[in-house]
Amino acid sequence: MSWVSDAIDVPRETSGILVPKILGFLGSDRDSSPPRATGYHASAMFDFCPRETALVHRHFKVVPGKEEFSSTTLFTFKRGSVTHGILQNGVLAKMGVLVGWWCKLNTEERVEGVCPQDGGVWEYEEPSFRVSIDGTPDGPQWDLVGACDGILVLDGQTVGLEAKSCKTSIYRGLPKAFEDMRLIRDWYAAGGGSSKWHDKYARGHTFQLQIYLNALGIEDGVVLYLPKEPTQDDPPLLEFAVKRDPGVMDVAKKKIRLVAEAENGGDWRGPVPEGICRTPGCLRAQKCPVVNQCFSGDLA
Ligand code: SF4
Repeated sequence: MSWVSDAIDVPRETSGILVPKILGFLGSDRDSSPPRATGYHASAMFDFCPRETALVHRHFKVVPGKEEFSSTTLFTFKRGSVTHGILQNGVLAKMGVLVGWWCKLNTEERVEGVCPQDGGVWEYEEPSFRVSIDGTPDGPQWDLVGACDGILVLDGQTVGLEAKSCKTSIYRGLPKAFEDMRLIRDWYAAGGGSSKWHDKYARGHTFQLQIYLNALGIEDGVVLYLPKEPTQDDPPLLEFAVKRDPGVMDVAKKKIRLVAEAENGGDWRGPVPEGICRTPGCLRAQKCPVVNQCFSGDLA
């Protein structure tokens, strides 16, 4: 008896029956996905350029609207949410080190502290904040907002968490990138000067965590990286300690304040803010729609 059957014409070509449906669903899900909190998001402040915002309004008269993402990008976001969920609810919760508010799935129950170990399914509520900025008009659109990945209590010490998954090629460059950060003197311009992804990750995620630490009043933090393609040759996780620096928070507030001054009550004829790029050739400038106006001095 042979286990090899005679050729049977089984259709194996399945491409096109699922992937387009997933991407189509994600695309149509845009309006039903929960809206992001109104305001300036901590995660976007590192390479946020107030000069870009001011010049775009002056030259293109753009009305700020809802940010749109492609289906592929939305899928990447969802994959990141799953990773965070596993880390928060599947690992740190069970270790008993993640503190904050917990919601019991499909119930109204909500408790504060470490995750209850009662056999139920609990989900972590990421600690969120809203900070209003002196020198900006009233309104939530001028607030600095965000949600931290978690607050940990490790050996009695409170630690803010920022967790990221990243490609192996970036992962390997992170230790050097974090080491080099001690040379940064100007966080305002750091977003425009980075030219390598691992530098951008290290600086950007540190900037983001610094906002969380300042907004939530925590002195210590850790940026945790999980490689997307784990290998035997690399450490399974990487962590980088961060000490709260009020100066980084001041930079974030300054950027928002400069936009408010440029906005000037709605006509965008206020002072054009300083930019974050050193040259028109840097990565950030090449993605900027007003790079030519910015560097030509055409600020009319
Ligand atoms: S080129 Fe750079 S500095 Fe100039 S407006 Fe754009 S992002 Fe800002």
